Amino acid sequence: MAQLIDGKQLSNQVLQEVASEVEQLRAEHDVVPTLAVVLVGEDPASQVYVRNKVKRAKETGMGSIEHRLGTATTQGDLNQLIDQLNNDPQVHGILVQLPLPSHLDEEQVIAAINPAKDVDGFHPVNVGALAAGQASLVPCTPQGCMIMLRQVHPDLSGKNAVVVGRSNIVGKPMAALLLQANCTVTIAHSRTKDIESLCRNADIVIAAAGRMELINADWIRPGATVIDVGINAIEVDGKRKLVGDVAFDSVSEIAGAITPVPGGVGPMTIACLLLNTTRAARRQLA
Ligand code: NAP
Repeated sequence: MAQLIDGKQLSNQVLQEVASEVEQLRAEHDVVPTLAVVLVGEDPASQVYVRNKVKRAKETGMGSIEHRLGTATTQGDLNQLIDQLNNDPQVHGILVQLPLPSHLDEEQVIAAINPAKDVDGFHPVNVGALAAGQASLVPCTPQGCMIMLRQVHPDLSGKNAVVVGRSNIVGKPMAALLLQANCTVTIAHSRTKDIESLCRNADIVIAAAGRMELINADWIRPGATVIDVGINAIEVDGKRKLVGDVAFDSVSEIAGAITPVPGGVGPMTIACLLLNTTRAARRQLA
């Protein structure tokens, strides 16, 4: 039976580190690291994510500012708000919750954020820095996955890793971080041929396709480490349930280590967002 990598427990450790860094910045520099969260529209999932991020931020002693804008918000209104937050010295991190309503241009919004305050790590300057192996604000979900992987593999050097998914927010930065850690990395996507045998050869499989239980036990080499990023909502007996991209019951019989959904990558993502906010605040001291 696979070792369970407990994202709840591990995220609590990260949040404790964040809380002590918040305390240190306050005591030594009279700075309260502050995260501004911008939510546009009424998407229910986004509302839950924003609520959780703000709640956790408060628990660490960090400052948080919420801007809730109506669905009819224009690009100009949003750019103006971002400009204001970019220029506010009390704000150290800016997060615009995605997805935005379809009339708004996400790329333009991300590019409008000051890269030094881009705690999601999506700005092209931070994306480029990560690709070049330079210090940057790293996207939260892949950063959380790396902390989880290090629990099992303190040294990742030479491991074969397959990342299933090539999105800008998960797959691509995940592959960049694994490469930085000296893994041999394969990125698989919807056009990849014989994805099963690629995964079967891997020491590490990162599932980030957004396809319910795509990866089953036949895809996994005995003893491999499986990180399940996927979040898929299903209904069981009239109740909403979250499942990952990995068929947990069968894969956990064969894998060496596995993350659950929920309680895996999700809590780590929020913890890493707050870690990025303290890092951004410290860098802005200089
Ligand atoms: P996305 O933008 O939809 O990207 C999905 C990727 O998976 C694409 O690259 C796609 O390939 C690939 N893909 C889709 N079906 C596939 C298949 N059958 N075989 C192989 N590859 C396939 O999604 P995302 O934003 O990266 O998110 C992925 C999943 O992670 C979602 O379930 C999302 O909810 C979850 N997520 C979780 C967290 C967390 O904190 N736990 C954070 C972010 C996202 P193409 O590029 O060829 O289309």
